[in-house]
Amino acid sequence: AKQNGSAQYQFYDAKRDQTSMEQITLENDLEDSIQKNQMQLYYQPKMDIRTGEMTGVEALLRWNHPELGMVPPDRFIPLAEKSGFIVPLEQWVLRTALEQIKQWEADGYSVVPVAVNISQIHLMKPTIFQSITSTIKELDFDTRLLELEITESAMMYNEEHVIQILNDLKRAGISVSMDDFGTGYSSLSYLHSLPIQCLKIDRSFIKKLTTDADSRAIAEMIISMARQLNLTIVAEGVETEDQVGLLKELQCFNAQGYFYSKPMPANDMIHQFTPPPPV
Ligand code: C2E
Ligand code: CA
Ligand code: CA
Ligand code: CA
Repeated sequence: AKQNGSAQYQFYDAKRDQTSMEQITLENDLEDSIQKNQMQLYYQPKMDIRTGEMTGVEALLRWNHPELGMVPPDRFIPLAEKSGFIVPLEQWVLRTALEQIKQWEADGYSVVPVAVNISQIHLMKPTIFQSITSTIKELDFDTRLLELEITESAMMYNEEHVIQILNDLKRAGISVSMDDFGTGYSSLSYLHSLPIQCLKIDRSFIKKLTTDADSRAIAEMIISMARQLNLTIVAEGVETEDQVGLLKELQCFNAQGYFYSKPMPANDMIHQFTPPPPV
């Protein structure tokens, strides 16, 4: 038994070594990932629960690493935030997403708005507004087709600065969603002072929506509060028909999640659009 134990200890140790080696590999390789064409966007539909129509898509980063395969964003976004690479990376995301929407439009599909995620580090850059609007201008993009998703915790980091940026964005016609809502601790009065258009209820509440009374109560409260504040509300991580039913009852009519569709590469997205009329 003792031997077994030490063998196990060795196993864990080796595994930990491998993990930290992997970490170092990822950190080193990240900076060249765009140039080497390893970054890719997946798209996940946002749906209208009542009509089953797609109302938007969210662009989600994927890193196709040559040795490690598909690396999920939760593994490399924190590294990119630490090194500052997140800024050029999200500039790439924005440009790629806008170009993709324009391409779908040119191909005759009736397109929907695209949402891109903006990290707190990027949001704090004094140049962010300028950088977003210049990309939009350069691509001659319809601003109404762009949404930004910023997490609740990122919005609480430097409230004055955030309110100013959000006001600039609003004036430019760019709408903003508060992402992962319910996981931070923003106050009702702060929420009221923010020029945002949408709240996305965090997946953790939706996950337990039909099984846990507290989660349901919180979701219910968020939904009614959003209605008071005239905000659109989107439920994240919707996986079951029961959840859809309950959301409808609670009058939350926008949802995103595996129940409707997993995030998918651009090529698969075209099957989600109404096909262009025959020539
Ligand atoms: P997020 O912005 O909250 O995106 C939603 C995440 O939930 C996505 O994970 C999506 O695949 C996943 N998801 C959607 N529906 C379901 C569902 O029904 N069940 C479950 N279990 N999961 C679902 P993903 O693509 O792995 O992205 C994870 C996080 O990485 C994102 O969370 C976002 O915070 C971050 N991320 C991705 N791309 C970017 C980016 O360009 N910039 C920044 N700052 N963060 C990004
Ligand atoms: Ca998001
Ligand atoms: Ca989210
Ligand atoms: Ca999240």
